[in-house]
Order: sequence, then structure tokens, then C-alpha cells
Amino acid sequence: MGDEDQKILVVGGGISGITAAVEAAETGANVVIVERNPFLGGRVAQLNQYFPKLCPPTCGLEINFRRIKNNPKISFYTQAEVLSISGKPGAYSVSVRVNPRFVNDNCTACGKCAEVCETTVPNEINYGMDTVKAAYLPHQMAYPFKYVLASDIIGTDEAIKCSEACPYNAIDLDMKAETFDLEVGAIIWATGWDPYEAEKIGYLGFGRFPNVVTSVMFERLAAANGPTGGKILRPSDGKEAKTVAFVQCAGSRDENHLAYCSGVCCLASLKQATYIRERVPDSKAFIYYIDVRAMGKYEDFYTKVQQDENVSLVKSKIARVSEDKESGGLMVEGEDISAGSRVRQVVDIVVLAVGMRPGTAKIKPDMEMAYDDFGFVTGSGESGIIPAGCVKAPMEVAASLQDATAAALKAIQVAVRR
Ligand SMILES: Cc1cc2nc3c(=O)[nH]c(=O)nc-3n(C[C@H](O)[C@H](O)[C@H](O)COP(=O)(O)OP(=O)(O)OC[C@H]3O[C@@H](n4cnc5c(N)ncnc54)[C@H](O)[C@@H]3O)c2cc1C
Repeated sequence: MGDEDQKILVVGGGISGITAAVEAAETGANVVIVERNPFLGGRVAQLNQYFPKLCPPTCGLEINFRRIKNNPKISFYTQAEVLSISGKPGAYSVSVRVNPRFVNDNCTACGKCAEVCETTVPNEINYGMDTVKAAYLPHQMAYPFKYVLASDIIGTDEAIKCSEACPYNAIDLDMKAETFDLEVGAIIWATGWDPYEAEKIGYLGFGRFPNVVTSVMFERLAAANGPTGGKILRPSDGKEAKTVAFVQCAGSRDENHLAYCSGVCCLASLKQATYIRERVPDSKAFIYYIDVRAMGKYEDFYTKVQQDENVSLVKSKIARVSEDKESGGLMVEGEDISAGSRVRQVVDIVVLAVGMRPGTAKIKPDMEMAYDDFGFVTGSGESGIIPAGCVKAPMEVAASLQDATAAALKAIQVAVRR
């Protein structure tokens, strides 16, 4: 069997997709990754630190990027998507569209284009909490390390100005979307997750009060390359935050929103409590939880965070978040279930631990895959489309790595058994 017979397509270049790709390629398979963003790494690239070790996400990502760079059997397309799939296990024909970046491989990320660019666009990596120039590097550790020109300025004099400022001829304003077909034996579907839309949980105040943020936004507020340079500031007035309330199960385990538990939110909030405690010595964190889910080896991390007397864990379902006019802060109200009393706590920032929802909850690709009631991909029966990572169920990075490795093995079997 030749190499071509073992071509595997990986859709989604998050930690699950890139893990599946490198594991499969290192056994000799040819792998193509199709990623929607202009960079690889997915949501992990947007984290400040990983629990339980609290190391930066670049730790895990850099190693994988190096494995991709060093392996000629892996190719990838960013700003790309799958349009259609036909065929059968062992012989799929996949139509792929690559959208234009308007920047070619000559780019050295020198930033000269951004210097002359005046238009700004919402900064997606920071969940729109700030803006970037329309000629931008997706983030400081982006792979590929290349600028992007936002389509907003294409066709304007500003785009021409950016192009003229580039000393390397790296801006190509004539770039067009390209569509092509790939023949592959197996497909790994690793399109990951999105945060639940917090504005739907009206009583928790997201969208009404600027100091109510989601857990994914809080990761960016704490990140050195985030909108505040890693200082945790109240979005309303830029004042240093000293008190932060973490509201667990924001919309989760709730029939009106997400009926299931996302499993990682408790650990994410415990981790985020350390962000504020480390930065501001006289700060206080309040974690309002239904039950703390910190299973197996994560129990030690939970115990360690609990030992900080300025982290209060309160068993409670929060019923309301409102503005506290006097302090400019937020009032968090609910019931303290263990003490049998009311919770009324004023804080600077409220962080909503929103659940993880598969991208496939909203848009189901037109192909042979089975879903559960929430849109997670449950499998593909006898088909050669193998789901991996958070598109299957909410999971942390360690579980995503294991799942992706298993998916790589399954894909190799499908591709070989044609
Ligand atoms: C607040 C919060 C904090 C967290 N912190 C931690 C932590 O500290 N430690 C830990 O272990 N875990 C943490 N997690 C969990 C972690 O984020 C996930 O385990 C991880 O993101 C799973 O990776 P994935 O590749 O499956 O999905 P994703 O990271 O979502 O990657 C999916 C990729 O697919 C791409 N994609 C989507 N749709 C398409 C499409 N149609 N075509 C092409 N590409 C597509 C996306 O752009 C993305 O790049 C946290 C989760 C939350 C909610």
C-alpha cells in the first residue's frame, strides 16, 4: 500500500485536530488539516494558562507546531472549510474552499502594513473586547506567523497603502477564494466547541452590565497578550478588580439552556481564581457552585486552591446579578445552600462559567454523522468520518489528546482497510 492510499483529512486544527494529524502522520499517513481560523490551535490558543499545572498554552501547542513543521507528510490550509463530502470509507472525495488571506508566504510579520493601516476591526482572539488594525497578526504566538488583511478594507485605498508599505511583496490584493477537491481514505472531524451564548441567561446580566464577562473572556483578561496586558481590570472603568465572583453552571444543567454539565468549568474557575489571587494580593475570589466537579487527579488541584483563605467556595445557585450603584460594582444574589442563608455579595467583576457547546449544535454539516440531543457528534456508524475531541463531548485538553490519538488510529484503520 502506497502513501497516497493512506491520506487522512482532519477538519479543525484545534488541539484535537493537530494531535490527530501528527499522530497519524508519524505512522506514515499523509494528512491534510483544514482549519477555519487564520491560525492553528483553536480555543487552547486563547487560554491564559492550563489547569492543573498552570503552564501557558504555548507549552503544548509549540511542540505540536514543531512536529507539523518537521513532518512533510502534513499539510494544512487555514481560513478553509469543507463544502461537501461524497464517497465511502477508504475513498472520499472532499470539496474544500480556502478563503483569501491577502497575504502570501513572503510575510515576515514585520508589521509595516499595520503601521499604515488606520481602520480597526473587532479582535476575535479577545472575544471582541478590543480592536485590532485591519492588517493584523491573529496573535503573538500565531502559527502560521503571518499577517491577515481583513476583508473590510479590500477594494479601498487603505489596502493599497498596506500593500505599498510591505517591503517583501507579501500582500496580494488579487487573492481569491479557491475551491479544490481532495481524495482521502478517512476523515477526522475535530471542529470543537463554542461557549454558550451568555446573553441568553438574562438574569445573570451579561450584555447589560459591562463587568459581567464570560469565563472565556476572563482567560483573555488575564493573558499578557490580552486586551489589558494581563491586568485584571473592570471593563466599565479600567479600575483594578479586587473582588471577582465566579458563577458556576451559568446556563448549564438547566433545561432552559444546556441540560448537561460541561465537566471542565469548575476546574476552569478554580484556575481563574488563582489568576486574580496571584496578581492582586488583597483580592478575594468567590466561587458559587452547585457541586464542584474535579474528578480523579484534578482533586489535588481543587484542594490546593481551596487552601487559599481568600478563595471562598459557596454552594449556591445564583438567582440574580444587578448593578450596585453605590460602589459601581455588581451585586450577586442567591441562596447559600450549606449555611441556609442568603447570598448578597458586591464584587468588581462577575465571571459566568458558561458551558461548552459543539459547533455542530448550530450548523450540522451535510454528511453522514449521528448527533445526540445537544448536537455533539456521537459517531458515524460504519462511515469513515471519525469525530475527535470536544465535538463529541466537553472535555479538557488531556482527554482531548487521548481521544484524538484514538481517532488517528481509527482513521488509519479505515484508510488502510479500503
Ligand atoms: C473557560 C475554559 C477554560 C478552559 N481551560 C482549560 C485548561 O486550563 N486546561 C484544560 O485541559 N482544558 C481547558 N479547557 C478545555 C479546552 O478548551 C478544550 O479541551 C480544548 O479546546 C479542546 O480542543 P478541540 O480541538 O477539541 O476544540 P477547539 O479548541 O474548539 O478547536 C476546534 C478547531 O476547529 C476549528 N473549526 C470549527 N469549525 C470548523 C469548520 N467547520 N471547518 C474547519 N475548522 C473548524 C476551530 O476554528 C478550532 O480551531 C477550558 C475550557 C473552558 C470553557
